[in-house]
Amino acid sequence: MEIGILGGGIAGLSVALALRQQGYNPRVYERRAGPATMGAGVTLWPNASFVLKELGLLQDVEAIAGQPLSTRRQDAAGNALGGLDIALLNSTMGYPSYTVLRRDLQQVLLDHADRAGIPVEFGHRAVGIELDVHGKAVAHFENGASIRPDLLIGADGRMDSVARQFVAGDNRPVYQGFVNWIGVAQMTQAPQALVGDMAIQDFWGVGERFGCVPIRPDLVYWAAAQARPLAEAGLRPDMRQEVEDVFARWPEPVARIIRATPANAMRLIAVHDLEPLQTWSRANVLLVGDAAHAPLPTSGQGACQALEDAWHLARCLEGASGGLDEVFQAFTRIRGPKTARLSEQGRVFARALLATDAETCRIRNERAKSSDPVSDVQALAAGWGQGLPMPACPDSVPAQGVGMDSLYRME
Ligand SMILES: Cc1cc2nc3c(=O)[nH]c(=O)nc-3n(C[C@H](O)[C@H](O)[C@H](O)COP(=O)(O)OP(=O)(O)OC[C@H]3O[C@@H](n4cnc5c(N)ncnc54)[C@H](O)[C@@H]3O)c2cc1C
Repeated sequence: MEIGILGGGIAGLSVALALRQQGYNPRVYERRAGPATMGAGVTLWPNASFVLKELGLLQDVEAIAGQPLSTRRQDAAGNALGGLDIALLNSTMGYPSYTVLRRDLQQVLLDHADRAGIPVEFGHRAVGIELDVHGKAVAHFENGASIRPDLLIGADGRMDSVARQFVAGDNRPVYQGFVNWIGVAQMTQAPQALVGDMAIQDFWGVGERFGCVPIRPDLVYWAAAQARPLAEAGLRPDMRQEVEDVFARWPEPVARIIRATPANAMRLIAVHDLEPLQTWSRANVLLVGDAAHAPLPTSGQGACQALEDAWHLARCLEGASGGLDEVFQAFTRIRGPKTARLSEQGRVFARALLATDAETCRIRNERAKSSDPVSDVQALAAGWGQGLPMPACPDSVPAQGVGMDSLYRME
């Protein structure tokens, strides 16, 4: 079976690797001219580590990653608001959590694709998909090429997915009322450190948030957020100065991290997600990753879920006795409910974290302070591990949601 994959991001490359393990020969088509170099970092939680291990990537990811053992929450004045015991989460779920720069993770995926003999065709921007007279999808590229594989996988991301447009007739993401500045800070003169330990630090203000994620004490990626109407979500003249001004009075290491970030290592994102879809396939086209189910960054799970897609799709293909329809239905049945819950949870978290009303934020902070760290871990483990053969991962999710909903649900 010929398999074409549109998009060489985390979803496209991990799906390619999972299918290669099953003996298929997928080919990846990526719009960029070469590997991505920007995009700060991602935290890979234990459910992602399970998939990385299955794909044979865990050791190489570990070599480039940090291993955080806790998350510390503080308000914008530096008062402690509790946190997450990541070491306990890891032991509950049976796998570690990692923090990685996106470009490094991408490189590990590309290296493994190369070793597995998976062709990655850069400079191939898909511009449209149509059905031929036999009802088979044909993908057309901007460079004039076109492909007609037996299975076409749409892994072309959240913002303008050609595959989602073909499957759902609509690919418009939804702006969720806040912007993210993201960046990578590095101290070049050793042995100076930006942070004192390997904790993820999460600072909550009113309509603003700053998260610092160490890979090493001298290498930290960060994401700052501010609630803004869409009309004001565009780039302003001096991004670095703007971020410095917004967070000038926040506790260290915030200012130190911003100062240690070169302007060309910062980016502004108007944050969008996607409404859950009823169906992820049409004809021989299947959506995966953000193209199917992009949650907000506040869910912390977009890349983890892209990796889970890879593992589940390979299992669905392996177990199928019928045609692609059966595979697509099984895949969507397994993946739809979990990813929809995580998307909803990302919105719930975002509404609480980026609330602009001081009283709402005060209540949120009080709740965070008094939350029970053990039950928070149990709820997250149950929600994130759901559907995977990991410890503490039931087939069904508890009625209260995918974990910690009660902490953040403000309405
Ligand atoms: C600020 C921020 C922080 C985040 N933090 C985390 C985190 O800590 N943990 C986590 O799990 N997730 C996190 N995420 C989410 C995560 O980054 C995404 O869910 C993940 O990258 C999805 O992978 P993907 O391959 O589906 O999409 P993408 O990574 O967007 O990749 C899509 C690929 O398709 C290519 N492409 C697009 N259009 C076309 C086309 N027409 N033709 C060919 N190629 C195309 C793109 O160039 C790209 O390479 C974060 C997201 C943001 C914005």
